[in-house]
Amino acid sequence: MPNRRKDLSHALSRILIASLLLFVLLPAAAFGWGDDSHRAAVRGALAVLPAEMGQFFQVNSRFIVEHSTDPDYIPDRTVEQKAEHFFDLDLYDVPPSEIPRDRSADEKRFGRDVVIERGLLPWAVEREYQRLVAALTSKDWQEARLAAAHLSHFTADATMPLHATSNYDGQRTGNLGIHGRIEWELVPRYLGGKIIPADGPAIIHDHVEWEELIYDRIAWAFEEIESGLALVDDINQADLACRKETVLDSEEYYAALNRRIGPMLERRLRAAATAIAKLYHTAWVEAGRPAMPPARAVMVLLDVPAEDFRSLQDAAVSEAARRSTSLGPQDVLAVIVANAPKRLWEFTVNWGPVCDVARDPAISYTGAESYALESALLALRRLPDSKRTLFILTDGLGADKRGLETLTLLEEMKVDVEIVSALKN
Ligand SMILES: [Zn+2]
Repeated sequence: MPNRRKDLSHALSRILIASLLLFVLLPAAAFGWGDDSHRAAVRGALAVLPAEMGQFFQVNSRFIVEHSTDPDYIPDRTVEQKAEHFFDLDLYDVPPSEIPRDRSADEKRFGRDVVIERGLLPWAVEREYQRLVAALTSKDWQEARLAAAHLSHFTADATMPLHATSNYDGQRTGNLGIHGRIEWELVPRYLGGKIIPADGPAIIHDHVEWEELIYDRIAWAFEEIESGLALVDDINQADLACRKETVLDSEEYYAALNRRIGPMLERRLRAAATAIAKLYHTAWVEAGRPAMPPARAVMVLLDVPAEDFRSLQDAAVSEAARRSTSLGPQDVLAVIVANAPKRLWEFTVNWGPVCDVARDPAISYTGAESYALESALLALRRLPDSKRTLFILTDGLGADKRGLETLTLLEEMKVDVEIVSALKN
């Protein structure tokens, strides 16, 4: 028996150390939705925006998705900046309906420090929303896409149940570490890669619009937070049950936890995606439905020899990189590659959705250049209203019939084609 007790206490201390380490090692960001959830939520939103505004968001989808996690990684965050990610509704000893929606009224009633300590999330949503409206109104596209990314962050945080409670990491109910287990294990394993589309009309038809806008962001946030708080107990109970059935942190534990709360988490992420889409749309309507900038597709078609031509590959990579630095928020850079050197994928931040399609084919066979050209053609067709330029860096283009035909088609589509012959050998 002494041995078993020793084993047990050893195991317990290991768990404690592991939990403490987790606490110390994970960024403060751990206590929010994790990176994968933020990205999934905003991806789901971008898929359903109305066409008149949607292309801008589509073109900038990669940028917006990348920057949706920014607020979690601001260096040396202030106490207020940290408090913007949660709202501990359970700390208020008045019914949610009686909490002032106006922050200054709240501070007057409860005291400034108390209000900050309990969380500022609803007001962060409103601030980023106003920032997006201002950017769209002044047609500051650079700012608009960044504000959109940051708005998505706080919007998603409002749907995360553990952001609505002071027991945010199960520390008071024997569920210590639950936040990290959900965000950094369960979601990446089971939900992160999934597309969880927002509820909303599809982008397929022009002029589809929602009836429903979010006129009162603070009221919306309070509602989400209240319904999130109601789910905290389910999460903690599920954790306890799974710990009884399986070994904590094992593959089986996460599978069991996912069976119990995965569908609920998915519903919360869908709620986040839906709200983000609606907020983007609402902001655009409030800004006076500005015409969004037409996309300018800058395509770099690289066709470099597979082997032995290292220097040509280097030249191609740096040329593509050079082109990418001058991109604005209306630009889509698609790099379509035949015989791609791997390093090419390093500067991906500004790439729009086009390249996701175009880079699909694993091109490394004879006739690669015409195949790559066809990819470019397909990609350009997805951006019918854009100004399109295609730079082709190649060691020998259009040598076959298919290549020549495609070049002709590109000309007919009024695509500016610039063939950089420096790479010809
Ligand atoms: Zn956050």
